[in-house]
This record gives sequence, C-alpha cells and structure tokens, in this order.
Amino acid sequence: MKKQFAVIGLGRFGGSICRTLSEQGAEVLAVDIDEERVNEFTPIATHAVIADSTDESVLKSLGLRNFDHVIVAIGDNIHASILTTLILKELGVKKVTAKAQNDYHEKVLRKIGADFVIHPERDMGVRIANNITSTSVLDYLELSDKHSIVEVIAGKKMDGKTLSDLDVRANYGVNIVAIKEHGYINVSPRADQTVHEGDILIIIGSDPDIDRFKKQML
Ligand code: ATP
Ligand code: ATP
Ligand code: CA
Repeated sequence: MKKQFAVIGLGRFGGSICRTLSEQGAEVLAVDIDEERVNEFTPIATHAVIADSTDESVLKSLGLRNFDHVIVAIGDNIHASILTTLILKELGVKKVTAKAQNDYHEKVLRKIGADFVIHPERDMGVRIANNITSTSVLDYLELSDKHSIVEVIAGKKMDGKTLSDLDVRANYGVNIVAIKEHGYINVSPRADQTVHEGDILIIIGSDPDIDRFKKQML
C-alpha cells in the first residue's frame, strides 16, 4: 500500500514538500485556504482542495485521520498552525510534522503533540554555517540535537593509513559509514581499508566526537 501524505499550507515550504513527494510518486493531498494556491497544485498533487484547516469538521470530512503523515506548513498564521496541529492529533493522526515560526511557536507545537517540528530558516542556517566554517565539510545532516552525519574530505594526516591504524572508533567515538574514492563508494568499510587524501568520508557520531575528529584528523 502506498503511503498517504497530506500537506496543509501551500506556501514556499509546503509547496516544495508537496512537489517533491509527488515527484517521488507518493499520494499527496494538498490543502490550502487560498484558491489560487490550490489551483497551482491541482496538476501536481493527487488531490488538491480548498479548505480551512482550523475547521475540525472539514478535516474529518477529508478523512485526514487515515493519512500516514500530515505536514502543517502554515507559518505566518501561528494561531491557525497551532489549532490545525491540535485537531490533527486529536483526530489520531500518527505523524504530524509542523513548521514553526519562532521558538515559542515550536514549544507550543511540541506541547500539543506535534511529532516533528521544523524551523526551516533556522535549521538551514545551522546547516549552511556548518558547511562553510570548515572547508573540509561537504554536507551535514542533523540526526538529533546531539548527533549528526557529516560528509568530510580526508586530509594529509589520514593519507595512506588504514581505519585500524587510525583507530577511528576507539580514538574519536565516530564510525565511518562510507568512503567515496574517485566516484566509487565503499559502504561499511572494514578495518583494513586504506584512506587516501581527498577521499570523501561519511561519518556518524555525537557532535562533540565529530568536532574532535574534524579538529584532529582533517
Ligand atoms: P512560506 O514561508 O512557506 O513561503 P508563506 O509565507 O507563503 O509560506 P504562510 O503564511 O506561511 O505563507 O502560509 C502558508 C500557506 O498556508 C498559505 O498559502 C496560506 O494560504 C495557507 N493557510 C493559512 N491559513 C490556513 C488555514 N487556516 N487553512 C489552510 N491553509 C491555510
Ligand atoms: P571495535 O570493538 O572498536 O569494533 P574491533 O577490533 O572489533 O574493535 P576492527 O574491525 O578490527 O574492530 O577494527 C579495528 C579498529 O579500527 C576499530 O577498533 C576502530 O577503531 C577502527 N575501525 C574499523 N572500522 C571502522 C569504521 N568503519 N569506522 C571507524 N573506525 C573503524
Ligand atoms: Ca513565510
């Protein structure tokens, strides 16, 4: 069975989620109070409807309780975002992701049961800052507020050494989950794998451990 998603609020954020889910072949119900926004998504989403998501009877009649994941992408109208999230959780929707406008908004969304809260501007800012502060960091993915997956470029210090020589896990507490070399990717490299300067390493660990690894190894 295909997973069913609903996106409420078709601004830039909700719109891009809706578009990407549709491109991936998912079933997507697109909802907005604004007719023009809905018209824009009629050819893209599986269904697109004009509705006020703060109206409980409307959300019920759309059958939202049966969706696998609902994304509340209403940002500016904090009142509408909170009320919509509350109704969805009361209806029993298992996964609700909500976009927060500020820290206070985030706190309220979490209190009323939002499963995932996203701060697109802040989160993207953190991600970009992490990418630009270190020239060796290519990409960065936050797993929790304490753990990340980071893509880095191996430097001179690692050149010609095996993972076992470097004793990465024991010394830094991080795991190298993959090594990319000349476009070839080796997933779950073994201890005897040699690292070369310029290889791309994908590492997973706690943020302090990753920091230590970056400072001492790269
Ligand atoms: P973004 O910051 O993602 O670009 P935006 O600034 O264009 O979004 P927001 O005010 O954050 O717009 O709202 C996103 C969408 O949510 C808008 O298209 C708006 O019409 C819709 N929206 C606002 N309130 C409701 C509601 N009660 N029911 C359904 N949709 C709503
Ligand atoms: P461990 O208890 O840490 O798994 P081990 O002796 O079983 O130790 P080996 O596979 O023999 O592990 O590797 C020796 C050392 O090489 C490990 O202790 C670890 O520090 C490092 N190592 C091997 N593979 C990796 C990896 N993918 N990422 C990080 N470090 C690794
Ligand atoms: Ca906005």
